[in-house]
Amino acid sequence: MPKGVQRRFVKRFLHNRVSGRKLPFFGSVEATRRCNSRCSFCPIGNERQEFKKGEMTTEEFKKVFDQFADFDLIVTSFLGGEPTLRKDFAELGHYAREKGLITQAVTNGLTLADHTDEYTRAIDNLVVSLDTLDPQKYKEIRGVDKFDDVVEGIEAAVNVSKKNKCVVVLNTVICSANMSEIPDIVKYAKRIGAGGIMVDFATFHDYWTTMTDEHSTYDPKKMDWRRDSKGVQKLVRQLMAMKKEYPILTSRSYLKTFLTGDFDYTCHPYLFCCVNRLGEIAIPCWDSKITKFYSLLDGKSLREIWRMPEVVASRKAVKDCKSCYMHCIVEPSKVVGEPFHNLGDLMEWIGVMRKNGKAIMG
Ligand code: SF4
Ligand code: SF4
Repeated sequence: MPKGVQRRFVKRFLHNRVSGRKLPFFGSVEATRRCNSRCSFCPIGNERQEFKKGEMTTEEFKKVFDQFADFDLIVTSFLGGEPTLRKDFAELGHYAREKGLITQAVTNGLTLADHTDEYTRAIDNLVVSLDTLDPQKYKEIRGVDKFDDVVEGIEAAVNVSKKNKCVVVLNTVICSANMSEIPDIVKYAKRIGAGGIMVDFATFHDYWTTMTDEHSTYDPKKMDWRRDSKGVQKLVRQLMAMKKEYPILTSRSYLKTFLTGDFDYTCHPYLFCCVNRLGEIAIPCWDSKITKFYSLLDGKSLREIWRMPEVVASRKAVKDCKSCYMHCIVEPSKVVGEPFHNLGDLMEWIGVMRKNGKAIMG
C-alpha cells in the first residue's frame, strides 16, 4: 500500500467536514466494457457491441492516474466489464501504485488462476466475484461454466496474497437464485483465509433492458430478490449476526435498510471520480438524468474540471436525488458522507484499513 494513505484519508476527511469543499476520495475507471461473463443480473456482459466501442490506450490510462494522484485521491478502482481483459492490466496497477494510489480491482476471476502472481503483485485489494458454491448455479447466474477455474484462482490468490502484499476479498451479489446460500459463502471466505467478503443486493434499472443484445441472459424478473421480502429479512438478520464472527465488510447501515425497507438516504456523489473507458469523468455521477462527461485527456485537469461552475452546480442539483440504490454509492455515502450518523461503521472501516494496511505494508 502506498505510504501516507491513512494520513491523506484523515486530512481529506477533516477537510471535507470543515471546509465543505466536497472533495472526492475515490477514483474509479471503467477499464473496458468487454466482458467474458454473461451474468443474468448485469446488462454489461449482455449489451450490444455499440456500447462497447473505444478504449483508452495505456498512455491515456496513465494520464488519468496522473490526474487522480494530482488531485490527492486515496483509492482507484479498476471496474468493467472485466478489467483483466486489458493486456496492460497489471502494468496499469503498478503505475497507479507508484503514483501513491491504493489500487483495487473488481474481477470475475475467470483469468485469475493463470495470472495469480501477476495480479496479486499489481493490486492492493483484489475483489473477486463469487455468488455461489454450486457449479451448476454458477453457470445459471454467471452465464459461463467456469466455477472450478474461479475457485482455483481465488484459493491460489489467497495463498500468495501475504507474500505479494495483496488483500483478496470476495464479492457476492445477492439475487433470487442464491439468497439461501449466502451464509455458506461467508463461511467459505473465512475458511480459505480471504481478507473479507462484501455482500450486496443486485440493482436493476428499467432502461438496462434496452441495452442488451439478442443472446442476452440478463433476466431482472427472474433474478430480482425483491420477490421474496421474508427471505431478504431473514438473510439480513443472519448477516448482521454473523458480522461478529465472520469478515463481512458490508456495513450495518447498508444492511439495515433491507430490514426496515427504508431506502431514503442522502447520496454523496462528490465522493467519487467515475471515469469511463474513454477517459471522461461522469458529472455528477454515472446514472443521473443530468450526467455530462468531461474529458481528462484534452488539456483540462481534473482539479480544474471539479471547480468549474457548471460542475459545482451539477453536484448541487442532485443533492436530494434518490434515483438509485447501488451498494458502491450507498455505502460510502452513509459511512464517509454521514460519518456522525454511522460512527460504528466508520470505526469498522478504519479498523479494516489499518488491518489491511499492515497486511500490505508487512
Ligand atoms: S457483473 Fe461483471 S462479470 Fe458479470 S456480466 Fe457484469 S461486468 Fe461482466
Ligand atoms: S442517487 Fe442520484 S445522484 Fe446519487 S448516484 Fe444515484 S443517480 Fe447519482
